[in-house]
Amino acid sequence: MSLCCGSVPKSPTLTFFGAAGEVTGSCTLLETDSARVLVDFGLFQGAPSQEQRNTVPPALDFRRLSAVVCTHAHIDHCGRLGMLPRLGYEGLVHCTEPTATLLPMVLRSSANLQKVRIDEFRNGTGPDAVVLDPAPDPAIAAAERFEDPPVLYSRGDAERVGRSVVGAPYLAWREIAPGVRMRLHDAGHIIGSASVELEIKHGAQRIRVLFSGDIGPTGESYLAPRGHATEADVVIMESTTGARPTSTPAADVDAEMRRIIEDCRHGRRTAVMPTFSVGRGQILVHHLARLAREGLLDDVPVYLDSPMAIRASELCVQHPTLLSAQAREMIARGHSPFDFDSLHCLWSRKHSLKVAGREGAGIVLAGSGFCDAGPVLHHLENSLGHDRGYVVFTGYVLPGSMAESLAEGKARRVRINGTELDVRARITRLHGLSGHADSPQMIEWLSGSGHSPSVVVLNHGDNVAREGLAGRVRTVVSSTVAMPQCNDQLELS
Ligand SMILES: [Zn+2]
Repeated sequence: MSLCCGSVPKSPTLTFFGAAGEVTGSCTLLETDSARVLVDFGLFQGAPSQEQRNTVPPALDFRRLSAVVCTHAHIDHCGRLGMLPRLGYEGLVHCTEPTATLLPMVLRSSANLQKVRIDEFRNGTGPDAVVLDPAPDPAIAAAERFEDPPVLYSRGDAERVGRSVVGAPYLAWREIAPGVRMRLHDAGHIIGSASVELEIKHGAQRIRVLFSGDIGPTGESYLAPRGHATEADVVIMESTTGARPTSTPAADVDAEMRRIIEDCRHGRRTAVMPTFSVGRGQILVHHLARLAREGLLDDVPVYLDSPMAIRASELCVQHPTLLSAQAREMIARGHSPFDFDSLHCLWSRKHSLKVAGREGAGIVLAGSGFCDAGPVLHHLENSLGHDRGYVVFTGYVLPGSMAESLAEGKARRVRINGTELDVRARITRLHGLSGHADSPQMIEWLSGSGHSPSVVVLNHGDNVAREGLAGRVRTVVSSTVAMPQCNDQLELS
């Protein structure tokens, strides 16, 4: 097998159209003599220049695709699926059953957001979240100020794709294209997340290709324990946390969460936690639910300000077999592992605005985790400028974003939704709630079967993460390790 750049591919071939040396825009094409299967079609995220990349579709004929597969309903893996009708693809999108429920919601929400953003940008009323001090690089700021936010698809497109989504049970083989069978494995990352195994018929040969998708951590979780990589000839493996040696121990996370609750109670503060709706939202609510059962939240109301997070939690309860033993037990006793007396679910902007700026002890879990849109902006607007304000970042922050500048204590003055504020609030970070396996856990996932694939391809990670993980991979398997760049191709025979 060989990695090549730009030469005519021999089938079967993998082409990496995104998330190659970066953490967003996941998109890989598997091409054989008889079929062309696209795995994931995610958004590039981050600075406006990154977002503009979404407007340039991969150089492939979408009308000739045989099938599309989606590993999970995170926007960096699924966010461009709404473009499929405009690109000429009318076929099916395969995924797990929970993802089949989530995907139409995520795509509709993404289409709505794109429309709102362009309207507000053109009217000059757009939400803004800008660090004023330290001042942004003037060249970057000037280049980004005049760029319209991209509109990739409409709500109608999203709904059309939603109707073509087909959920498959885990572990069942299914023929999705001529000479290509698919089997999905629980990846333990979010509800419905999957590693995708494709078996290709190539002459007399059968080649198995495994796409890890995002791999969840081991240890305490609301999700059922995941397995390890199945035996495959080629493994395409995410490497998001490849440079992260080990996760924060669960006991430390728990102690830190208790400290935050205590800070809220004694300081009569409301902690704003920017929250990713699918995944992080469930981790946080599940953790808080456990502490609520000890009475720790009796006088500390918690507000879940993200309809998508509320729906994702409900979806978890509808699929108890995919949850941890503890969560299943609770459901069997008639309780939701994502509910407790002091939890208030906010379904509307009206309710969200009522909570923003509230006084007294409380916790607000608000989308989005990147602090670039959604209800979190008005919570930050009401919190950041006050000595009693309290903001807790609970996960990944995009490099160069306002969230990163705040989380790292660099931002002194910001503008949010037109309001300029000196940052006075207390800002902390809570580590260890990641939905991603750390580096040793990824190695354990890869080597668990005792089988060495011919090739391990590292994608979905920056180059530091990939290099870090590559070194570890070479110590446990004898595979060739490939680290493709965008548009590189890998021939499989
Ligand atoms: Zn993910």
